[in-house]
Amino acid sequence: MMNNPHISFEFFAAKTEEGRQKLKTTCLELDKFSPEFFSVTYGAGGSTRDTTKDLVLDIQADGYSAAPHLSVGGDSKTDVIQLAKSYQDAGINKLVALRGDLPSGIGGTKQLVHANELVALIREHCGDHFEINVAAYPEIHPEAESYSKDIFWLGEKFKAGADRAITQYFYNAQAYFRFVEACARAGIDKPIVPGIMPLTNFHNLARFSDNCGADIPRWLRWQLQELSETPEDLIKFGLEVVTNLCEDLLKGGAPGLHFYTMNQWQISDTLCRNLGLPIKTP
Ligand code: FAD
Repeated sequence: MMNNPHISFEFFAAKTEEGRQKLKTTCLELDKFSPEFFSVTYGAGGSTRDTTKDLVLDIQADGYSAAPHLSVGGDSKTDVIQLAKSYQDAGINKLVALRGDLPSGIGGTKQLVHANELVALIREHCGDHFEINVAAYPEIHPEAESYSKDIFWLGEKFKAGADRAITQYFYNAQAYFRFVEACARAGIDKPIVPGIMPLTNFHNLARFSDNCGADIPRWLRWQLQELSETPEDLIKFGLEVVTNLCEDLLKGGAPGLHFYTMNQWQISDTLCRNLGLPIKTP
């Protein structure tokens, strides 16, 4: 395993006070692994604008590095630049810049702003202040024109000023390695960090994967389905599968891992321990 893999953890913007309190424990527990940042998602169309911002500022105030996800969504570009500048003023120095999706119902004639345009906009108005992360899709974005066109647009995000990509989750390490090779052939030389989705609930995962175009390989889908009636067995099996995936990725040269935590610390903690990631002494 490489010496200092980049580790980061992703949360969604908890809406209740109870959820926010639980996240404090989650941050405390996962901080042991010295993550580069905790990122907080931005609801489709800007639906969590205030909750995302409040949570990001709370995490930062507690002494951790927080990275808000950001998209133009249903807002104007001016509003989004104002939001980015307010993060800059608050000392936030990392962002995850996305096109996002529109929530159902908004659709109509509204045009989503592609992530490369958002990155350019942030660089134009905030200079080099932010380290900008963008999304990448080893199994290719569901709306992509083609495999190579999707990689072309990833390259445009980097040309616009992005520093690093974080991938959609996947369970086939070869999909990632082949994607990274294809990106390198297309001239992309920035880090592409695998996004890791723990396996904890078959039905939620299957529904979500169908929507976002992430593949659950047949051998895995069948076993998860069978174990879905016995959650403890599913979690044990899922930990083994995802630990192996992470080991293969790090051994094969992945620059780090970004964990989709679903706001829980226990599974990510076990995965990090299984991988032998260094633990901070208190
Ligand atoms: P883009 O990079 O704009 O790509 C979208 C599609 O358009 C692709 O098919 C691409 O090939 C094509 N394309 C790209 N640029 C252009 C262009 N200039 N002209 C024409 N075609 C183009 N969603 C949320 O709502 N909130 C979140 O917080 C969130 N966080 C995420 C974090 C990660 C790490 C990842 C991987 C995804 C996240 N998503 C989130 C989901 C993401 O918003 C969706 O996958 C969305 O459909 C695409 O966003 P993007 O930034 O990849 O878009």
